Amino acid sequence: MHLRLTDEQRMVQKTIRKFVEKELIPLENEVLRNEREGKPSLPEGKMEELQLKAKEAGFWGINTPEEYGGADLGQMMLAIVQMEVARTFVPFSFGGSADNILYYGNEAQKEKYLLPTINGEKKSCFAMTEPGAGSDTQNIKMTAVKDGDEWVLNGEKTFITGGNEADFVMVIAITDKELHKSSSGRKGVTCFIADRSMGWKSEYIHTMGEWGPAALIFDNVRVPEENILGEVNGGYDLGLEWIGFARWIVGARAVGAAERLLKMAIDYANERETFGKPIATRQAIQWQIADSAVEIEAARWLVLNAAFTLDQGEDNRHAASMAKLYGSNMGNRVVDRVLQIHGGMGYTRELPIERWYREARLWRIYDGTDEIQRLIISRNLLKGHVKVGQFA
Ligand SMILES: Cc1cc2nc3c(=O)[nH]c(=O)nc-3n(C[C@H](O)[C@H](O)[C@H](O)COP(=O)(O)OP(=O)(O)OC[C@H]3O[C@@H](n4cnc5c(N)ncnc54)[C@H](O)[C@@H]3O)c2cc1C
Repeated sequence: MHLRLTDEQRMVQKTIRKFVEKELIPLENEVLRNEREGKPSLPEGKMEELQLKAKEAGFWGINTPEEYGGADLGQMMLAIVQMEVARTFVPFSFGGSADNILYYGNEAQKEKYLLPTINGEKKSCFAMTEPGAGSDTQNIKMTAVKDGDEWVLNGEKTFITGGNEADFVMVIAITDKELHKSSSGRKGVTCFIADRSMGWKSEYIHTMGEWGPAALIFDNVRVPEENILGEVNGGYDLGLEWIGFARWIVGARAVGAAERLLKMAIDYANERETFGKPIATRQAIQWQIADSAVEIEAARWLVLNAAFTLDQGEDNRHAASMAKLYGSNMGNRVVDRVLQIHGGMGYTRELPIERWYREARLWRIYDGTDEIQRLIISRNLLKGHVKVGQFA
């Protein structure tokens, strides 16, 4: 067992930190200004420009297999990268990647959807959630009925990230009602790749965060048989795989953001004086700083364990749920304390803390709520799938 980063991991961490400090953090004021004026966080073309700069620094397709032009750095590296990038709220993602489930496509689908997504020519989104089925994914109602060599899709999806911008959606619909019922929703649903040009519509949903997801409306949208991703009636597992991929990454992002926020709080506590002394001399402030630092470290190890488990080719679902549950709650506690330490200033829009405060609240909801993570963790323990104290 070795609890230190390797030289290579340290080098990657340092390079990304430099990139974040040089290219992203200087954009923060512009991002805040744009968002307050109701404009997109980054002007058109800026993300692509940043992605190219990252590519020049060697970061492109971090987790994309080498045969598709990626670096395939593995999950530990991904964790390190995500923690670093999350030190700023400037929305940025590295180029050269695609949704994990698109790799299940056949050769024609890879040519038409996977490669253009990796190359940034097409934008994708994934749609499982419906107005009546969020945590309860087995309760979806959208139907797909076969008509000749096409399927006709009807229904509504909601809260779809990237749904306003996407060129195509990977959408889950019921294809066999009986099987769906008899298998308690685990079978009888299929994943379709539906181009926007096939006729689905998107509607912006306003949230307390900065980028609204979309409602997607399917009204007799005809999707050709060749656009089925994976097996007919086997779409549920693909859906779970898509959702599971990002789960522990939410924890990684919370660690990065909380580190930066804590640093802001430490600087402010040392500078801000009340009753003739810096607030850093008060135990009430010191304890908030200490608790935050301990919790950030705890979350970091949960995240690294989830990544490491996956790199070993083992099932990381239990570890991923723990990293997501603890990490996202830690992030919310830290941003709240940091806001408190800043007093009235923390509540203003002069500082980005309120911006982070609103973003952090989402971490406890999407990719499986707190309650669903607790359900998964306790079920694994109660059914004996995982033993108390089991260390991978
Ligand atoms: C900004 C944003 C982006 C999203 N992006 C996507 C996306 O790209 N694709 C996609 O398919 N979905 C997406 N979602 C949907 C997201 O995954 C769901 O919102 C989430 O799973 C919760 O579902 P729900 O909102 O229907 O809440 P519900 O499932 O209705 O839950 C309501 C409350 O009840 C609790 N609860 C539910 N069941 C139980 C239970 N059995 N025991 C105890 N408590 C329970 C929940 O934890 C929650 O507190 C996104 C959501 C948001 C807000």
